[in-house]
Amino acid sequence: MRIELADYCIRCGLCEDLYPDIFKRNYEEHCMDVLYDEIPADLEERVKKAAQDCAVAAIIIK
Ligand code: SF4
Repeated sequence: MRIELADYCIRCGLCEDLYPDIFKRNYEEHCMDVLYDEIPADLEERVKKAAQDCAVAAIIIK
């Protein structure tokens, strides 16, 4: 599983607040970073929840 964050991410930070093991604010580049290129299997369920929690559906699961 991989994640892509859409350009229309509003950088609200909710995903980092709820899932800091997966997402991190990047203050230098004014974006959100995903901490993994390939999501480990044991985090896949959390990624699915994060995608559901994102208010603008910017977390795209590949
Ligand atoms: S919750 Fe969604 S809109 Fe907010 S920072 Fe994360 S990806 Fe972006």
